[in-house]
Amino acid sequence: MDAARRDSLLLAPYALRSCDSVGRRHEEPPHPYRSCFQRDRDRVVHSAAYRRLAHKTQVFTGGLVDAVSGDDYRSRLTHTQEVASVARTVARALRLNEDLVEAAALLHDIGHPPFGHAGEDLLNERLESHGGFNHNDQAVRIVERLERRYPGVVGLNLSIEVLECQGRRAVKGAPDPSAESPLLEAQVVDAADSIAYDAHDADDALELGMIEFAELSEVTLWAEAVARVRGRYAALTDQELRRATIHELLEWQVSDLLASTRALLIERQINSVEEVRAAPRLVEHSAELHEQKRQLEAFLFKRVYRHPMVLAHRMEATAALGELFDRVLAGPWVEHPVYARIGEAESPHRAAADWVASVTDRHALAAAAGPVPG
Ligand code: MG
Repeated sequence: MDAARRDSLLLAPYALRSCDSVGRRHEEPPHPYRSCFQRDRDRVVHSAAYRRLAHKTQVFTGGLVDAVSGDDYRSRLTHTQEVASVARTVARALRLNEDLVEAAALLHDIGHPPFGHAGEDLLNERLESHGGFNHNDQAVRIVERLERRYPGVVGLNLSIEVLECQGRRAVKGAPDPSAESPLLEAQVVDAADSIAYDAHDADDALELGMIEFAELSEVTLWAEAVARVRGRYAALTDQELRRATIHELLEWQVSDLLASTRALLIERQINSVEEVRAAPRLVEHSAELHEQKRQLEAFLFKRVYRHPMVLAHRMEATAALGELFDRVLAGPWVEHPVYARIGEAESPHRAAADWVASVTDRHALAAAAGPVPG
């Protein structure tokens, strides 16, 4: 069955059909059995930037915590896979375009530099007079300018809608009230990102012993998830209880999101992509869960993201990356044609940031300590 027939049978009227894509910057003939968004997803998965997410920090980093707890905490790659998994579940339940959702989810964090937000803040500071740096914009640069996969084409030549999903993330901090709303597929990825990290950051912090299970009971959402799990199972070991609670937290958030989004779609009588564009955000949690998530996030911010162990590592990472950036900016590495072109067309600072942002945590540490590899 071709993509158009499949979409017409399976997708809701407010989903974006693959045949309604406006296409790519460089026109390509359609694929005989993959939709345009399936191809986009595959292009992201096969990119070097995607592979490097395996060795990039989510919140916790190898080196610092491996000795404490092995390799069980999330990397930027496994976070991305959890986001894609949640996003696809939501997309299928709402009958949205799963291929577009998956492509956008796998792409969403591809622009993260080494060492997570510490790396991002450092690069933003170094680029203060050169347009700044943020990971959402960087994802667009990677797929538009830095990746080289196809002869004669710069970037991955993704569909305009996939680029739009990512582009809308880049302006998330400063929404323009007169602008159209993002596609539902893009809204789902944003919600899935938050669902995934709220659950897995709590899980990782417990695994690493940064917080105690009992401390989390001051968070309503957590306490209620634990109560639900205890109501279902008579006796659980500590580890079983933790795992079941994380599972419950995910399940609960997804169910709430689906119920609340379905109610909004009916209430606002949304029956087309045009009506999605004209409406305020529709993929939203209930007011109650929204508030409870805010409380959990405030807890995580204070107790986990500002934990002395995380802060100490942040300082170390910032110092190493700052040194690397300065060396790269001054060094002969710019002879690499991709970065040399960026250095000429934009600025040497931008080219250095593109290079530094592209490497993994361990590559950055090795490069900061030794000769800068090409
Ligand atoms: Mg993310």
